[in-house]
Amino acid sequence: MNSASKETSIPSLSPAKIAIIGGGVAGSTIALRFAELGIDTTLIEKGDSLVNGPPICHLHAGGNFYREICDQQCLTLLQQSIDTVKVYPQGVNARPTVIALPKTDQGEPADLLPRLEKIRAKYTELVAADISNKVLGEPEHYFQFFSRADIESLLHLPLPKVAKKPSDWLVAFAQNVDLETLKFPVLLVQEYGLSGFRFAAIADIAISRLASCHLRTNSQVVSMKTNASSSSWRLTINNQRDNTNEQADFDYVINACGFKSGEIDDMVSAKRQRMVEFKAAYVAQWSQCQGLWPEVVFYGERGTPQGMAQLTPYPNGYFQLHGMTQDITLFEQGLVASGNNSAQPKLAQRFLNKIEQQWPTPLIEQRTLGSIEHIAQFIPSFASADVSGKPLFGAQQIPGNDADLRTADVSFHDKHYARTEIVKASSALTAADAILQDLIDGDLVSVAQVGQYLTKHYFPVTLACSEAEVTTRAMALAQARNYPAALAQLS
Ligand SMILES: Cc1cc2nc3c(=O)[nH]c(=O)nc-3n(C[C@H](O)[C@H](O)[C@H](O)COP(=O)(O)OP(=O)(O)OC[C@H]3O[C@@H](n4cnc5c(N)ncnc54)[C@H](O)[C@@H]3O)c2cc1C
Repeated sequence: MNSASKETSIPSLSPAKIAIIGGGVAGSTIALRFAELGIDTTLIEKGDSLVNGPPICHLHAGGNFYREICDQQCLTLLQQSIDTVKVYPQGVNARPTVIALPKTDQGEPADLLPRLEKIRAKYTELVAADISNKVLGEPEHYFQFFSRADIESLLHLPLPKVAKKPSDWLVAFAQNVDLETLKFPVLLVQEYGLSGFRFAAIADIAISRLASCHLRTNSQVVSMKTNASSSSWRLTINNQRDNTNEQADFDYVINACGFKSGEIDDMVSAKRQRMVEFKAAYVAQWSQCQGLWPEVVFYGERGTPQGMAQLTPYPNGYFQLHGMTQDITLFEQGLVASGNNSAQPKLAQRFLNKIEQQWPTPLIEQRTLGSIEHIAQFIPSFASADVSGKPLFGAQQIPGNDADLRTADVSFHDKHYARTEIVKASSALTAADAILQDLIDGDLVSVAQVGQYLTKHYFPVTLACSEAEVTTRAMALAQARNYPAALAQLS
């Protein structure tokens, strides 16, 4: 679609030209936030499509996967997840998560209660302040514990086709999990699925309809310098198709390069301490699978052979698997930090090869089978699942030096330069909001232009993408990337 046929609700008033380098979930979200307001935005992505970085499958609406993080991070993740569901409802798979503690785990289910109560209280408060925040169901049902007797009462029930009450989500769980391996009660919490493929589809469709957003795919920024004759930035952009370079000037640049953010920082001598971690999830098909499956998490200590096991369901018996052990999701020397001379942490070449080229087939088999066995410790019949394609993988950045940090958004350096530093997809909107404020503080965008939408999220074109068109586009993207189309569908 050319610019002339694009629609936009607010006319473009701003003379300022904004460049976003990197079209992952951070860069795409910022592009949508700005272009919906009529801000002239150029999104520059080196790959051939948007949101094609590390995977996204879970909406961390309360951070309940992470016992090691502080309560405040959980509350921030809750708020950001609610905002994300409101802007991208078509990207969300609204089914709950079951969290169970294996008998081998050091913790007790009761240890989880104080924090869950705080998160529920915060959700209650957010809903009372604005009813549109009620996107995770009734606040009083944010979490629920099920005793062993509750679970055993489901053992002989027929498998429900749709969930009419919370316990319906636990019937298949009760009938397949080896209950002897678990401590009780088990937790059901309203943390939903979030689809990277659906984000990619929404960004693709909405950006094609927004006149203020100029998308340049197959375009890699290879140099960034201040333009001596003005206060702008000069970018050199390499067209990846014909390997030609071109220069363009922008008033403000946003570095949204994910784990490669340090490369742009280095171009402008911006110092930054950050870490980068390479991780992977695996795809299996369990043809015996029956009934409704929630996401299921078996807690465990990260990095040990008992690391957390995570089973994410999709239609047609497909599952995405994580296992927080060195042999499954984590990798030896997969976490690296930046040094004094460069803001870019250096991942070993074997990880870059996996990201940029492909995985050796024996390694796909070995790690996927390892992830199936890891789940089968708790769900014995899952041992019959088959390896079903290539892993979902990538490197993510973590700013600072706390490897457990799960909420980060953006940092600023010098004038008119911001870098996104999200760890979870749901932090992208917070980053967009903070950069919008910086544009206003720097007189590049006027308060009159954004009006009430400085503090409110205004995404009419994004929200108008229908669920059906998002599904169609997301399935096509999944297949083009050599993944089963089921990973792009809602379960
Ligand atoms: C195994 C795994 C599982 C995960 N699961 C979840 C989950 O369930 N939920 C969740 O919320 N988060 C999850 N994450 C984290 C999530 O994937 C990341 O937080 C998120 O993808 C980061 O988005 P981003 O836009 O910052 O970076 P990216 O998605 O990496 O995007 C950066 C983009 O910049 C482009 N780029 C880089 N350099 C240049 C350049 N010089 N010029 C032009 N373009 C450039 C890249 O091509 C890329 O498209 C997971 C991460 C991993 C590794």
